[in-house]
Amino acid sequence: ALASQDQLFGHPKGLFVCFMTEMWERFSFYGMKALLFLYLTKYHLFTDDNGYLLLGTYAGLAYALPLLGGALADRWLGMRKAVVFGGLLLVLGQLGMAYNGTPAQGIPGQAVQDGFAIQIMYASLALIAVGVGFLKPNISTIVGRLYADDDPRRDSGFTLFYMGINVGAALSSIIVAYIGEKIGWGYGFGLAGVMMALGLVQFILGQKHLAGQAEAPDPAALNAPWIAGISREVWIYLAGLASVAAVWQVLQMKVDFGFLGAIAGGHEVTMTEVVAVVMGLGLFVWFFKFLFSGISNAERGRMLVLMALIVISALFWGLYEQSYGTWVAFAERVMDRSTFGVEWTAGQTTSFGAIFVIAFSPVFAWLWPKLDKHGLNPSLPAKFGWALVFLGLAFGTLMFASRVPGADGLVSLWWMILAYALMVVGEMMLSPIGLSAVTTLSVPRVVGLMMGAWFLFSAFGEMIAGRMGTWASIEPNPDGSIDKVKALGVYADVFGDMMWIGVIAGVALLLASPLLN
Ligand code: GLN
Repeated sequence: ALASQDQLFGHPKGLFVCFMTEMWERFSFYGMKALLFLYLTKYHLFTDDNGYLLLGTYAGLAYALPLLGGALADRWLGMRKAVVFGGLLLVLGQLGMAYNGTPAQGIPGQAVQDGFAIQIMYASLALIAVGVGFLKPNISTIVGRLYADDDPRRDSGFTLFYMGINVGAALSSIIVAYIGEKIGWGYGFGLAGVMMALGLVQFILGQKHLAGQAEAPDPAALNAPWIAGISREVWIYLAGLASVAAVWQVLQMKVDFGFLGAIAGGHEVTMTEVVAVVMGLGLFVWFFKFLFSGISNAERGRMLVLMALIVISALFWGLYEQSYGTWVAFAERVMDRSTFGVEWTAGQTTSFGAIFVIAFSPVFAWLWPKLDKHGLNPSLPAKFGWALVFLGLAFGTLMFASRVPGADGLVSLWWMILAYALMVVGEMMLSPIGLSAVTTLSVPRVVGLMMGAWFLFSAFGEMIAGRMGTWASIEPNPDGSIDKVKALGVYADVFGDMMWIGVIAGVALLLASPLLN
């Protein structure tokens, strides 16, 4: 089946079906994410603390659930059906966000956080998180399956796919964020939903090009009556809907852990963090059993290094994801957002990251083999170390910029562009490289699970980002305005701390890398 696939631009046609589906999925995901903190604090009048925490826990769940969505598709559902079901949930969730209830009345930071509009929002976030769980891991696995094991085009196929992710992210942070902030929040979210719907239609029309590679492993068993005469397939969809209901509640729950909770920065810990930690513990139990399940010493060594890298990636994402939290708040409150006579909105500044990924990807694709030829290609752990150092430098840039505002008391946008460029150099040394490390270092039969583990640590990163974001929470004045001088001081201090975290962790990893290598 693989050999007879229709080709386009030298790749299987199915790649373009996956490219477009993931592009529109990321379009809706990142457009919405660019708006979320602003929407929470300006429309629903959340405090900064609660805004950062919800941003972190929601995005965290969206990256944790792929562990389950991937496993379900492997075992029963097949990737194609999982993508369609996930896509439907995503459309519903984005359109739910577009339901524009009455804004909370009162002073920013002091709103009551219940009421119908807020509940619609939590339910929509739950639909999106579960939708991502069904769609994201499986669309990525399909890409891998379109190529035979020894097909030399596989790497460039994945590079193109990663570009698709960022084309979607760049377009939406420019368009969705603008519409959301300038015309109306609901219109921005609505556009994200409409484009996700078109992406889904595109997938359904194009699924014939997947060459049968994304089907259920045992269609007869999937469709046969199972419990109460209902098939496994329908039970899976029902379980998906039940988990939406569960996530809707989990997102709103906090647990008082007393002393233990204080480690996380308050006595209360969000239920989402508890769920993720339980998933992480489950993963480790499985992992250590697997290490002693008769694999060779060489395999065990590679699995241990892979797991170490996966754990380290959580710290990277914890800093990186500040770009959707504290960086958006910074851009909104203390930045002069105009360049060349164009005024950017705060949410639009998140597009710089994706734009740099598109620009740098070909450069790094060219650079690594080149360095390799001269024996200068850094080892995998060393690349992760450099990634953290560059990320630290990005925060150093913003710290410095906050200390030297312009005559108007605002920070120039160019500093943020520089910070994004440094941060994306770090991303290039960790994100695409980490994905490929998962496929090469893992024992082949558990690669899907290890991919889920990679995303689970992105989930921890999101939650860490939410916690670290609260260090930079600003208390508004009694009239709701923000004291810019005070805010600049807070951002400078927090970005300075984050710089040291990145640089120190990065240097430590560079020193330890010969050992890991
Ligand atoms: N930006 C990439 C994506 O959206 C990677 C994100 C991650 O692993 N945290 O797919």
